[in-house]
Amino acid sequence: MIVILLGSPGSGKGTQSKRLADAYGFKHLSTGDLFRAEIAEKTELGVKVQDYLKAGKLVPDAIVVELVAGKVMAGGKYILDGFPRTVDQATALDGILKGMGTSVTQVVYLTLPKDEAIRRMSSRRVCSGCGEVYNTISRPTQVEGVCDKCSSKVLQREDDTEATAAKRLMVFEDLTHPLVSYYKGESLLTEVDAARTPEAVEAALRAVIDEARAAR
Ligand code: AMP
Repeated sequence: MIVILLGSPGSGKGTQSKRLADAYGFKHLSTGDLFRAEIAEKTELGVKVQDYLKAGKLVPDAIVVELVAGKVMAGGKYILDGFPRTVDQATALDGILKGMGTSVTQVVYLTLPKDEAIRRMSSRRVCSGCGEVYNTISRPTQVEGVCDKCSSKVLQREDDTEATAAKRLMVFEDLTHPLVSYYKGESLLTEVDAARTPEAVEAALRAVIDEARAAR
């Protein structure tokens, strides 16, 4: 079963992917997380992609597709978070999955107004140790700048500053939003209103996934 979470930056794809991975046993595949780990480890790939992430630009399709192709295994249950982000990535994914005798099961588009996305991104903080995600408005740490779980430093992502967040939203509109039509055309898309509490969004997502599972 392959579920894609589509949505602008700040729409909660990462948070919801983690919740669904826990609830259903999906493997959570976040291309953004994979790139950040490569950058932190200063690998060859990390060095190649770091300027794209810093500037809020998309990493070239060929690099992303190669990364994902090496991670998806036949018969696995995946939740894809932040991939595909262009129509070319989506067609490449279709090809990869076809080669494994499978296909995308369900795509959920998490909808969120732009001003709310900017607000969420600029108030997001991430633990440098364990990756736990906080929000200075809705979910602050108990001690400022210190992770509740592992006591490491909690930081703002370099691309969550207001200017880069705005740039990422433009990139989303230009290059990723066309995937809404792409997957509607394949009758795979359901929209979920992401401007609600994480619990309400999770409940809506679970209903979509349960229906997709029942239909298989
Ligand atoms: P995210 O954590 O999903 O917001 O991704 C952070 C950054 O990683 C993006 O702004 C891009 O620079 C890069 N990135 C992540 N996924 C992709 C993708 N599928 N295609 C191109 N670039 C990506």
